[in-house]
Amino acid sequence: MPKTTVKKRTPRTKSKADIARTIDMMTAQYGPFEHEPRLPPTDEMVFTILSQHTSDINSSRAYRRLMERFVTLDEVAAAAIPEIETAIAPGGLAKIKAPRIKEVLNRVLELNGSLDLSFLREMPLNDAKAWLRQLPGIGPKSAGIVLSFSLGMPAMAIDTHIYRVSQRLGVIGSKVSVDKAHDILEEKVEPEEVFNFHVSYINHGRQVCRAQRPLCPECVVGGLCPSRNKFISKADLATLAAQEEQDLAGTRGAPIPHVPQS
Ligand code: SF4
Repeated sequence: MPKTTVKKRTPRTKSKADIARTIDMMTAQYGPFEHEPRLPPTDEMVFTILSQHTSDINSSRAYRRLMERFVTLDEVAAAAIPEIETAIAPGGLAKIKAPRIKEVLNRVLELNGSLDLSFLREMPLNDAKAWLRQLPGIGPKSAGIVLSFSLGMPAMAIDTHIYRVSQRLGVIGSKVSVDKAHDILEEKVEPEEVFNFHVSYINHGRQVCRAQRPLCPECVVGGLCPSRNKFISKADLATLAAQEEQDLAGTRGAPIPHVPQS
């Protein structure tokens, strides 16, 4: 008898409505979040280079030192690489970052005639992304940070926390690359929710859905998570099932408030 092959079904990813629910639940847990523009766009771009592979404290210190030493980014663009390197030394990897900063600034000058990138705000999102992506060393995450945090556009900037939480929750497929995830998530998250998505998913990834041993029994979106059973003990699963039954019957007391972990 011929053998029948059973095709493995690819698990379905979450609908827009379910993703919106996860954003609402996490925003209620960790928010509300205020959206305040941080730096002008070109400064934000330089800051993203300074923040690669280092802490926020170190990158802020390096940016401050750079701007104290040169005052304007036009001066940075014209400076000798060793001088930039000395100024940004507190941020680490100065030997790699200094030539990168000089190169990207000079490319912006070549293409735009000035270092003012505010014109991107007037472009359709995909064109603005493509404009930034043509610059050396600017990938989807850096472009997303400049467009969303500086210019308030609904661009995704996916870091390791957002990527991990999105995969575990089935918002994106397990084999989707981080670059591709930017485009998929921009399709699936409503533009006015992109900022809340970004901040709430990062908070969730840092505090609860950690890379190692996520705190699934405390998870506010655990009921929507297809990965929960992978990380949770049988005892915790039984407790959660009992609690969910009590919730349905309306007999459980007020939930214990979540205490953020550092
Ligand atoms: S249930 Fe666990 S794996 Fe799923 S999102 Fe929550 S913490 Fe992450």
